[in-house]
Amino acid sequence: MIDLRSDTVTRPTPGMRRAMAEAEVGDDVYGEDPTVRRLEERVAELFGKEAALYVPSGTMGNQIALRLLCPPGEEVLADADAHIVTYEGGGIAQQGGIQTRTLVSERGLLDPDAVAAQLRAGDWHTVGTRAVAVEHTHNRGGGSVYPLERLRRLRELTRAAGVALHCDGARIWNAHVATGVPLAEYGALFDTLSVCLSKGLGAPVGSVVLCSAEQRPLAWRLRHRLGGNMRQAGIIAAGGLYAVEHHVERLAEDHANARLLADLLDLPAPETNIVLIPVPEALPADEVARRCREQGVLVSAFGPRTVRLVTHLDVDRAACEQAAKVVAAALAG
Ligand SMILES: *Cc1c(COP(=O)(O)O)cnc(C)c1O
Repeated sequence: MIDLRSDTVTRPTPGMRRAMAEAEVGDDVYGEDPTVRRLEERVAELFGKEAALYVPSGTMGNQIALRLLCPPGEEVLADADAHIVTYEGGGIAQQGGIQTRTLVSERGLLDPDAVAAQLRAGDWHTVGTRAVAVEHTHNRGGGSVYPLERLRRLRELTRAAGVALHCDGARIWNAHVATGVPLAEYGALFDTLSVCLSKGLGAPVGSVVLCSAEQRPLAWRLRHRLGGNMRQAGIIAAGGLYAVEHHVERLAEDHANARLLADLLDLPAPETNIVLIPVPEALPADEVARRCREQGVLVSAFGPRTVRLVTHLDVDRAACEQAAKVVAAALAG
């Protein structure tokens, strides 16, 4: 099977498994796992942030970060198709008591003017905007990348309004490789970030929340409350550390493979590793996915009218060429 459903399906490489097997560990609920500490320090250093916290998932990372920024009963502004709005089970609402106000935006990328028009201070009568959340790259936007200038404008206008800026950076590594913008330059723009190790980077488990040193004790406490404090987590953190050291620059291969897929299917070139294929009404996306599966290719039905292909560490150029043939036949037949 050629599995293009998501970049989460990757398995640890032999080198990564060795690093995991040999990891030095301790009880991290006591803050005593040296490998977790090394991972947190390394990711904080890469993004130029004061502090980092290893968490079991990106969903938990976003919840912790947004709860650091927004008290219950106040609001976070986000794109209507954002992961935090669509795929997190309403976590920030249920666990954090946070109201979400959404804006429909092209390819998921917030327009600074539209954001500026919606920010509100809040008073005895109205809900206050406490944070704006961007998703970079944007999943449902097709791996879309924020131009740096647009992020700078969002930073300026939120700062001027006393509003925090969060980045759901599950795939920020892809944005970094696609644009050449240093991770630390992105890091400097946001109050908090959540970055995934288990997407394109290929680690089996985990994300990292980046925040200030002052925020970290509360982030730890929130992770504990969500049941996310882990014992000898160095075993899995070692996979993340290996991924950060060995699998970032190679994301360029995934981007080239995604462009190849798009080219073979006569679609516009994607910016990163996600290819969205619009399908006609007469041929629903799950029918396309079923036909592809019969021919040995796994794809995602991404709503009724869109098929999603995601390139990653475990699919090479030849697999993408084969997949393009199968998908083209499924769309034609
Ligand atoms: C995958 C993803 C997450 C978090 O995912 P988990 O599966 O909870 O680790 C968050 N945001 C985006 C944009 C994602 O693609």
